[in-house]
Amino acid sequence: MNPDIRPLILLSNDDGIDSRGIAVLEEAVREMGELYVVAPETERSAASHALTLHKPLRITERSPRHYAVSGTPTDCVNLAIFTILPRKPDFLLSGINHGANMADDVTYSGTVSAAFEGSILGVPSMAFSLTVPEDPSLPLAFETARHYVRLLVERMMAAPPSPSILFSVNIPDRPVSGISGIRVTRLGKRVFGSGDIIRKEDPRGRPYYWIGLSPKDYEPDPQSDLHAVDHGFVSVTPLHLDLTHYPSLSRYQSWESEADPSGVPGPVHGLGAHPLSS
Ligand code: MN
Repeated sequence: MNPDIRPLILLSNDDGIDSRGIAVLEEAVREMGELYVVAPETERSAASHALTLHKPLRITERSPRHYAVSGTPTDCVNLAIFTILPRKPDFLLSGINHGANMADDVTYSGTVSAAFEGSILGVPSMAFSLTVPEDPSLPLAFETARHYVRLLVERMMAAPPSPSILFSVNIPDRPVSGISGIRVTRLGKRVFGSGDIIRKEDPRGRPYYWIGLSPKDYEPDPQSDLHAVDHGFVSVTPLHLDLTHYPSLSRYQSWESEADPSGVPGPVHGLGAHPLSS
């Protein structure tokens, strides 16, 4: 990166361009580069990594360098990088999501998927999510989020990571003074139960279903994101999109054998000993 040129920073989210979270994100990093906001025109939470292929997308310029897109977070990042921005951004920031994105949530999250898309397109990316209070009438801890967004973006800019790695940051619902510190974590594992889907009846007596909130219970793991945030730490989880399970490459290599996919030595189709067993 040429130090004479201010870094170009793309901001997106999944809560929509009018959400408080993306406004706070912009405030937090305003002095740190040239900003472009390209975000969904409506809320697209849990849009995951969806790309819109079967209908046209519209871009509306709301104000200079602020664009609303009639699509998903992934659509926004693609249109931003290939159509809207004057050059490839130096960094992508996503959020600040209204609600945590930890453990299994990461696969549903539009906030984290925007950062995944940045990573795929070669841009160092960081997603921010803020835990919501248990009492929905209470305000979100955006001051805390603003503080840690600035701190972590400064760190990322000081030593830009490989774009193949992205960061998912989760911020606890506490004042800055109540934060225990920063933990670099791995994805935890929630314990799901049947109570997470709510069944009710509509006025005509027909059942309908509503997928509830993520369960609070999780498998004990002091290195996990869930544990860190539960204990008041800001959680920073480095992620990458290579979903390959490497230990299984050697474990299932025997499946490559057409003669005996089980890999178990023994008679095959009544033809006698397995050719590899002799
Ligand atoms: Mn959201």
